[in-house]
Amino acid sequence: MTITAQRGNELRAKGWRQEALLRLLENNLENGEDPENLVVYGSIGKAARDWPSYHAIVDILKQIEEDETLIIQSGKPIGLLKTHKDAPLVIMASSNLVGHWANSEEFYKLYDQNLTMWGGLTAGDWQYIGSQGVIQGTYEIFQAIAREHFEGDLAGRFILTAGLGGMSGSQPLAGVMAGAVILDVDVDETKADKRIATGFLQRKTYDLEEALAWVDEALSTKKPLSIGLIANAATIYPELLNRGIIPDIVSDQTAAHDLLYGYVPEDVGLSELAALRKTNPEEVIDKAGKSLAKEVRAILDFKEQGAIVFDNGNNIRTQAKAYGVENAFEIPIFTEAFLRPLFERAIGPFRWIALSGEVQDIELIDEYLLKNFSDNEIVTNWIKLAGKYVPVQGLPARISWLGHGERTKLALAVNQLVAEGRLKAPVAFTRDHLDAGAMTHPNIMTEHLKDGSDAISDWPLINAMVASSSKADLVAIHAGGGGYAGYMQSAGLTIVADGTSEAAERLKLALDNDTSLGVLRYADAGYENALDEVKKKGIRRVEL
Ligand code: NAD
Repeated sequence: MTITAQRGNELRAKGWRQEALLRLLENNLENGEDPENLVVYGSIGKAARDWPSYHAIVDILKQIEEDETLIIQSGKPIGLLKTHKDAPLVIMASSNLVGHWANSEEFYKLYDQNLTMWGGLTAGDWQYIGSQGVIQGTYEIFQAIAREHFEGDLAGRFILTAGLGGMSGSQPLAGVMAGAVILDVDVDETKADKRIATGFLQRKTYDLEEALAWVDEALSTKKPLSIGLIANAATIYPELLNRGIIPDIVSDQTAAHDLLYGYVPEDVGLSELAALRKTNPEEVIDKAGKSLAKEVRAILDFKEQGAIVFDNGNNIRTQAKAYGVENAFEIPIFTEAFLRPLFERAIGPFRWIALSGEVQDIELIDEYLLKNFSDNEIVTNWIKLAGKYVPVQGLPARISWLGHGERTKLALAVNQLVAEGRLKAPVAFTRDHLDAGAMTHPNIMTEHLKDGSDAISDWPLINAMVASSSKADLVAIHAGGGGYAGYMQSAGLTIVADGTSEAAERLKLALDNDTSLGVLRYADAGYENALDEVKKKGIRRVEL
C-alpha cells in the first residue's frame, strides 16, 4: 500500500487542526524508509503500531471533534476522551519502560509481542519531514569544524562517513552544502538509490577504487562531491587506514544504536540477515557488536592520525565500549563539541510543513525570513542555501534553527499569511525532540553537562506537560526503543497555524513556553549563555 499525504484545501476531517495531523501522519509514511512495515526511519522507528492501528487512527482523526483528545500508546489508539477545545487533539507516549526494565532485551520481548514500538524522535508522533529533518544540524557541525580547524572552508577537504538511511542520508548533501568531498558508506544499495532519487546523493559505486578516484579528482579541483560507496563500514574504514588514507573529518551515522535491526554485521549478507534476526537474534547482535567495534577502533586510529572525528548521535561509542573498545569515548559527541552553545539559548531545529503541498508556500515563508531575520546570520545563510540545495520531499517543509521569541515571531507571521490567504493552506509547526528542554540522553544530548545532571529525565516530562497546558495540538512523550531502550527520554509537540486568532494564541503559548523551558533547563545547569538569555528575553526564572 502506498500512502501519500493529501494536498490542497479539501478537508476530510472536522477542522484544519485534525486534518493537519492526519496529513502529517500520511507524510511520515510518504517519506518513510520502509512504509510497508510502517517504518519511518532509524531502523525500526514507526508511525503506528500496526496497520489496524494506523487505519483506526486515520478514521478517528477524520471524526474527532475539537473538544476531544485521542490517546495513543506506542502507536496504538486506545481511546477518545472528552476534553475541551484548548486541549491537545492527540496525546501519546511511546516506547516507555519503567527504569529497571528499560533495556533492549525487555524492549525486543515486548516488541515481538506487539505490545510496544519505537517511536524514534519524530516517527511515532508524525513529525518526520524526510532526510532534511537533521540536515541543518549536520551542516552546522561541518561549519563549526571548518571554523575551528580549516580556516572556515571545507573546499578540498575529505569527509568519510557511513549511513544513507532516513536521517543519515542527509550527510552527503550537508557535506556538499559545506563545500566538501564526502564519501558515505552504506551496505544497502537501495538506500543509495533512494538518496540519489530524492536529490541527497550525487553518485554511487560498489567499487572502492572508483570511489577513491572520484574523491581524488574532486579534491584536486576543490569541487564539492558526494559519493555513496556500497559496502560495510566495518570493512572500509580499516581498509582506508591500511592504505594510509586519512580523511580530514570522520564520522558515522548508521543505525548503530540497534545491534539487532540497525547495524549490519560485516560477514552476513543482507538477504540472510532478515532470516537470522528471527532465528538467531543473539548471533546477529554479537556479530554486529564485533563489526561495530572494529569500525570504531578505525575511527580512533583516524583521530590519532589527525582526523577530526565525532559521534553523530547514534550511540556508536556506547555500543563499541560494550564490545571492548575501552577508549571509545575519546570520540567527542557532536552536541557537546559543536552545537551546545546554540542549545544553551534554546536555538534548535524548528520546522514547518506546508499542508497545501505547494512549494510556493515554503518559498514565501523563506522570503519572510530573509527579510525579517536579516540580522540573524545562521538563519539567512541557511535559508539561502536550503532554497538552493534542499529538495522537496513529501509535503514541502523547511527546517531552520531558531530560538526563543524567534519561533513565535515566525509562526505568528505565518498564521497571519494564512489568514490573509497569501498561503494556499494552513502550516504545521513542530521541532525535533533533540531540542534544548525536550531531551535527556546522557550519551548524546546531555553528555557532560556542567552540573552533572546528564541523566535527569524530569526535563522532557515537564516539557510535555508544559506543551499540553500551553494548547499544543499534539503532545508526545517518547523513550528509547531497540538499542536506545533505557538511554533516552524526549518530548515533542505540533501546533497548526490555520489563520485563526485561536491558532495565534496556541502558537504563542506553546512555542514561547517550549523555548522558555529550554533556556531555563540550561540556566539551571549553570550555563552563562542561558543566564544571559533569561535576562535578555525576560524569561521568568526562580532564583534561589
Ligand atoms: P536508517 O535505519 O534509516 O539508516 C541507517 C543506514 O545505515 C541504513 O541505510 C543501513 O543500511 C546502514 N548501515 C547499517 N549498518 C551498516 C554498516 N555496518 N555499514 C554501512 N552501512 C550500514 O537510520 P537513520 O534514520 O539514518 O538513523 C541513523 C542513526 O542516526 C540512528 O542511530 C539514529 O538514532 C541517529 N540519528 C541521529 C540524529 C542526530 O541528531 N544526530 C538524528 C537522527 C537520527
